[in-house]
Amino acid sequence: MNIYDSQRMEDILLSLGHKKENDAESANLLIFNTCSIREKADDKLFSDLGRAKILKDKSTEEDFIIIVAGCIAQSRPQDLLARYPYVDMILGPQDVQNISDRINDLIDNRDLDTLVFTNLKASDKFKRFSRASPLLKRGISEFLTIQEGCDNFCTYCVVPYTRGREFSRSVKEIISEAKSLVANGVKEIILLGQNVNSYNGLDESSEKCRLSQLLWELSSINGLKRLRYTTSNPKDVDENIARAHRDVKILMPSLHLPVQSGSDNILKKMNRKYNREKYFEVIDMLRGYRSDMAFSSDFIVGFPGETNKDFEDTLNLVKKVKYAQAYSFKYSPRPHTPAAKMTTQIPEDTKEERLRILQKLLNQQQLDFNSSFVGKRVEVLLTKEGRHLGQLVGRSQYFQAVTVDNANNLRVGDIAKVFIKATISHSLIGEKI
Ligand code: SAM
Ligand code: SF4
Repeated sequence: MNIYDSQRMEDILLSLGHKKENDAESANLLIFNTCSIREKADDKLFSDLGRAKILKDKSTEEDFIIIVAGCIAQSRPQDLLARYPYVDMILGPQDVQNISDRINDLIDNRDLDTLVFTNLKASDKFKRFSRASPLLKRGISEFLTIQEGCDNFCTYCVVPYTRGREFSRSVKEIISEAKSLVANGVKEIILLGQNVNSYNGLDESSEKCRLSQLLWELSSINGLKRLRYTTSNPKDVDENIARAHRDVKILMPSLHLPVQSGSDNILKKMNRKYNREKYFEVIDMLRGYRSDMAFSSDFIVGFPGETNKDFEDTLNLVKKVKYAQAYSFKYSPRPHTPAAKMTTQIPEDTKEERLRILQKLLNQQQLDFNSSFVGKRVEVLLTKEGRHLGQLVGRSQYFQAVTVDNANNLRVGDIAKVFIKATISHSLIGEKI
């Protein structure tokens, strides 16, 4: 979602005549669009800001501007003001669409202190984005935000406090943006939402439209070859979505379905509103409609109060589901969240040990999944040139990274039938059939 927001800010600024520099040393405006999901993301910003100050001090430009945008700006403005007084502006995720006006405000008012914009009210964000920005040519596979914010309030998660309440864009606006993307050469669209399955934007007759209906609508766009959507909360996956995976031809058979934990006890403390049995039911339903469905997930280990037995439940769930790919994290206390105040925090070394064990299992599953493709054919959407001459790289239907050798007759943007020769690390190597 930050990539999407950053690209839109870039569209606006480039259309107004700003120029993008490849290195920070040559720039006189630095924008950090930040993520606050885990503590590591905060730490990264703080070290980047240290480097930015050196550049600002060295600069001979009168208007050298540093802007912190996004979720850290929203969740910790006071910290930023106190620790980094040389930051010129703090801009929350619901104000990034006003980037050009805000920069002008700043230039007109150089004698003012840091400007802070952290209003979380539902905004005209997307209308402003699409009005202000003729879409620039980008990749073959692009993100399209259809829903933003979250009302779920999982007890570990900062998103409801940084992105605000759930908001769905209208069907008309989404279709129009999707058509512009396709007209610009995009072949795959990945629909984005913090909670994409609860999409309920209005259609042309002002009726609420569900995600499955939206997928059908998008599938009729000429030239669009692939559709994906992320991220789904298991509690919101319904049968219409499962059916769409069978019937919507361009909807890919892979799904990111974060379970977070395999323990009912921890899922309850996380306020996830499903249990492991419900999760298995959702997986079975999806596999019932589409037997080759590939699943990925997110996991948090060391949530407050997690016992050895709870962790064993997670391992056991992983063994049952068999994931194609997964992300896993140590629990990290976040500002404003209830879990950060729980008194049963888990020691760092226990979190590390559990993460190591879980990642070993998940890596093995990914390797097993990829190895099962050696000697088989997959369809690869080619997205860019490979590292070596004659190579192109892309993604399979199941979202595996694939390098295609001897791809001389193929072009970026093609969907190629590829014979898989080998798997290395987390990707597949193949040859055009
Ligand atoms: N909306 C998605 C869902 O419900 O699964 C998750 C979106 S969140 C931006 C991405 C992932 O970050 C989560 O699935 C979770 O695994 C991880 N995450 C969120 N808060 C975390 C925290 N406090 N500590 C560690 N990982 C966290
Ligand atoms: Fe965060 Fe996802 Fe839970 Fe919303 S559903 S609070 S984004 S983890």
